[in-house]
Amino acid sequence: MQEGNSKESNAVVKGVTAVEGVVMGVARLYTRGNINIDPEPVEESRVPGEIEKFARAKKSIGMEMQRLTDFANEREDSQTRDILSAQLEILNDPELDQMVQSHIEGKHIRAEKAVYDAFQYYIDLIKSSEKTFLVSRLSDLRDVRDRLINNIQQLAVIANFGKDAIIVTDDVSPLEVVTFARNGVRGIICNYGGLTSHASIIANAMGIPMVIDTKSATREAGDGDTVILDGYGQEVILRPDDSTSGSYRRAIKRHKEEEKLLRSVIDKPAETLCGKKISLQANIDFEDEVLNIEKYRADGIGLLRTDTLLMNAGPISMDGKRQEQFCQTAYSGSGSALVTIRLLDVGGDKLLDLKTREANPFLGWRGVRILLDRRELLRSQLKAICRVAGQQPGRTRILVPMISNMDELREVKTELESVQKQLAEKGTPIDKNIKLGVMVEVPSVALQVKHFAKEVDFFSIGTNDLTQYTLAVDRGNHLISDLYQPMHPAVLAFISMTVEAGDERDVPVAVCGELASDPFAAMVLVGLGVNELSMTPRLIPRVKQAIRLHTIREMGELARQVLASVSIKEIKKLKEEWQSAYEVKLREERASAARG
Ligand code: PEP
Ligand code: MG
Repeated sequence: MQEGNSKESNAVVKGVTAVEGVVMGVARLYTRGNINIDPEPVEESRVPGEIEKFARAKKSIGMEMQRLTDFANEREDSQTRDILSAQLEILNDPELDQMVQSHIEGKHIRAEKAVYDAFQYYIDLIKSSEKTFLVSRLSDLRDVRDRLINNIQQLAVIANFGKDAIIVTDDVSPLEVVTFARNGVRGIICNYGGLTSHASIIANAMGIPMVIDTKSATREAGDGDTVILDGYGQEVILRPDDSTSGSYRRAIKRHKEEEKLLRSVIDKPAETLCGKKISLQANIDFEDEVLNIEKYRADGIGLLRTDTLLMNAGPISMDGKRQEQFCQTAYSGSGSALVTIRLLDVGGDKLLDLKTREANPFLGWRGVRILLDRRELLRSQLKAICRVAGQQPGRTRILVPMISNMDELREVKTELESVQKQLAEKGTPIDKNIKLGVMVEVPSVALQVKHFAKEVDFFSIGTNDLTQYTLAVDRGNHLISDLYQPMHPAVLAFISMTVEAGDERDVPVAVCGELASDPFAAMVLVGLGVNELSMTPRLIPRVKQAIRLHTIREMGELARQVLASVSIKEIKKLKEEWQSAYEVKLREERASAARG
């Protein structure tokens, strides 16, 4: 942690908005690890809490190591497996455990200090011993010690940030965003990060304003500084003086009023000015978000990301009951509408700690590739989904992520049929009309989309990944974030091909990537013929408003112009022109609302 500093006031740091919003609060510099150990004793009443902290850290690291061991086993990587099993042995050593606990109880010290001292005792013992073969254990001991201390301190740091905190950090993981959100932080500012990284997507779902790619926020901000995160202006203002704070307070108030206006759209139908209904669905990542389906009047769920269930679960193993419960909650939160459940899409940036294990995780063991290698995982997830689907026939769509060839789809289809058959034989009710679809997110699927259209019940276009794989631009890499352009003509061409192929065979086509929540992009997508858009529910009113103020003809014309463009610049120009015209429409709308 750094102390507050005496740098100049009103310092502006430019960035890129990952989640819109304006908030003012106190900068809290957050660094993973790298925190000193406080040797001071704590009050006796805090002793049980310190023991609990140690137990929690131990459990969480144990699960993490087990997960890594599973991966190592999967790849028959015996070297990694041996290192991990040696470390697990240390972690579970009863004598070490006993020593840490008795240090806390006897000396009233913090959990991290007790861990440090207990491990140091063994490290010193090995160092002074004649047994050279034990020296190799030193690095394992230090590694386990550091992981434990890091885990204990990280949770404590996050919990102590306070409700007015705006986190300033290098980068965040999806799990950290969840932890920040649960501790009520106001905003997140990162030096790096990608617009469609899963950390940004989760911050969006949780409604935490976030500015990324500032390059220098952690250097410019001091811990404890007042900070304004301006997600509309794509910037951060550090140490604002009274007049700047005043004008931001007014801006915050204005945005709240605009949001109020947007809320008035919530109960209106999602249809174009000429009366065509467009289905606006919800992307749901967590159970807590299910309430937002009704709140923002989403037409069911267009994307249920089941992978988030694993975030707190440890090893990649499927708890069938937990899956069923998640699906049940999703169904009960969405009336009688369709629920699109995506099979596990772990890998890529979703299990951050494994990133180093693969040279190119986004091109690696991810989504359906993992499921087909780990059949028991696939079967148990299909079973959980089919059991719930059987109780609510006609509502379920299963979506397969990361498909890159037809054989993968056919294998999943065979597994689904066999799971359904087994359930039926046991007398469990099933939904015979369960739908199976694929994510169009890898260019090979878009190129073969006419063939896929013969074998699927629906398509869902994942523009986040389709963009990264089409343009060869890692969606989370800040060095090339300006090349990450979902409105690139090549990406749009793939979308258009998919819509055409879907139309030919009456296969519904949805878009569930972040692009669907951008009003301009939504106009283009509807203009191209997409009838289902799925997004974080909070953003539905904004898209609905744009849809309600345009006719299908206008959107079709816009789509034609966009498709005829060959460069990103041309498309950006079209967007600017559209935006100015749209603002005029919005002003008229506001004036007519004010007149009543
Ligand atoms: C996508 O790729 O667009 C998508 C919706 O899936 P995810 O962001 O979870 O990869
Ligand atoms: Mg994807």
